[in-house]
Amino acid sequence: MDVRRISDALKVRAAHQRDQVAHDDTRRLITFAQWDREADEIGGGLAAAGLRAGDRVFLPISNARAVEMAIAVFAVFRAGGIAVPINTRFSPKEVRDYAGLVEPRFAITDVPDLVADLGLETVWHTDAMPRDLAALPDQAALDPDADAEILATSGTTGKIKGVVVSHPDLMAGVTGTNLDRSRSTLHALPLTGSGGNLGIVMLPARGGATAFTQPKFDPKGFLELVREKRPDLVYLVPSMLRLVLDHPDVADYDFAGVKYLMTGTAPLPNDSVVRALKLWPHVRMRNSYGMSEGGIGIGTSTQEQVLKPGCVGKLPAHMQLRDEDDRVITQANVVGEIYGFQKHPRRYWRDEEATAASFRGGWTKTGDLGFVDEDGDLIVCGRSKELIIRGGYNITPLEIETVLHQHPAVKDAAVVGIDHDVLGEDVAAAITLAGGASISADELAHYCREHLADNKVPRTIVILDELPHNPNGKVLKRELKPLLAEAAAQRRAAR
Ligand code: ATP
Ligand code: MG
Repeated sequence: MDVRRISDALKVRAAHQRDQVAHDDTRRLITFAQWDREADEIGGGLAAAGLRAGDRVFLPISNARAVEMAIAVFAVFRAGGIAVPINTRFSPKEVRDYAGLVEPRFAITDVPDLVADLGLETVWHTDAMPRDLAALPDQAALDPDADAEILATSGTTGKIKGVVVSHPDLMAGVTGTNLDRSRSTLHALPLTGSGGNLGIVMLPARGGATAFTQPKFDPKGFLELVREKRPDLVYLVPSMLRLVLDHPDVADYDFAGVKYLMTGTAPLPNDSVVRALKLWPHVRMRNSYGMSEGGIGIGTSTQEQVLKPGCVGKLPAHMQLRDEDDRVITQANVVGEIYGFQKHPRRYWRDEEATAASFRGGWTKTGDLGFVDEDGDLIVCGRSKELIIRGGYNITPLEIETVLHQHPAVKDAAVVGIDHDVLGEDVAAAITLAGGASISADELAHYCREHLADNKVPRTIVILDELPHNPNGKVLKRELKPLLAEAAAQRRAAR
């Protein structure tokens, strides 16, 4: 048979690894043969329901139904449609706006309420997907270059954008991560974001591994699954890793079988790396950097590199840093914007203006800032939108967050720029405290003064119970800004 799409690759895989488990969400598991057969049956069911090439199928499916997510995505591919996974934890308005953008005809979901008023033609529950093997389209007649998926960005900086991923892009795969080399992977990533979708849903079809998905993340349950499933690769986003490390029983769990601990999707605080390596000295840690706009994942940071705050490995050939005039930066320690080259460039769904601004000649403008240090390592130091320009000096929040994280009383820290009449912007920080710790904002400011240049010391520090996160576990700095601006105004008024 012709293998032109990842859904064809699954068929070959199913022939070789028939009875091996492909996906397991602890509620249900499927072997490669079952996955392949169900994708055919449901792909036929979708075609029988009237799905035509290029039609979008909306997939708000929670991680508790990871097995059905994997089946549904491959069924949509085999029917010739475009899969549109979306996080069920996004707000109803976010889901509505996103549906308005991608205009799906059908939906498959385990949360039917979320799509009830979207006016879709047919909505199937994940427990009752349509089946009609006889109606399955001839796979050889499907366009190998067609669009495969529209992936939602996390909505960290603003509205959720839809990024189009083509079939050739999926076949080329997520570059550079260790995931493909694992025998079995345990994770709790949302399967709807780029990391979870491209990394985990596709993983068994790509590399033949077994993917274990925790239905809903909780640290104790995750540790139990490490014990029960014995994965050789564990993936945790930084906020989850911290919760696992903070769990009082963490030392009781044996990580002997775990070879790799991968993390990514957000900045990785250094103290988490130090704590993890102390607990599990045999585990190799990897920090991967990527985004919905490009499978730019590096994730090859060595143990030494992962200890450097923000380090995501050596600068690879397909990435570069550019200055404001679009010139490639070749000097060490000069901050610029990160660009990544892609063989199969992506685009924003129905947004030519945004596409033209971010994708040019195969190069993707990431919106992230970084520099290459004297060792040739790429250090990601924040988003360009989050750069603080105080009195004409550029300040990256990461540098200040790293210092705050090193204080034993600090659990989490986020630094933002807030408007200032004279300086343009000023530095402000929101922190949460480690269990049982107590410290005042003034004491923290004093500590910062000992470790940072004066212009980087946060003038406003607010201690919160929790930092606001989006469903992908990223700190929503845009929500912190008004709160910190208000605190700064109160401080000025009190003086
Ligand atoms: P939106 O684009 O909607 O504002 P988002 O950028 O958070 O949301 P994603 O595509 O899910 O949406 O995330 C990609 C971003 O996550 C990157 O641009 C980068 O800012 C951040 N990121 C990913 N991996 C890392 C990492 N290892 N270290 C630091 N930041 C990371
Ligand atoms: Mg983004």
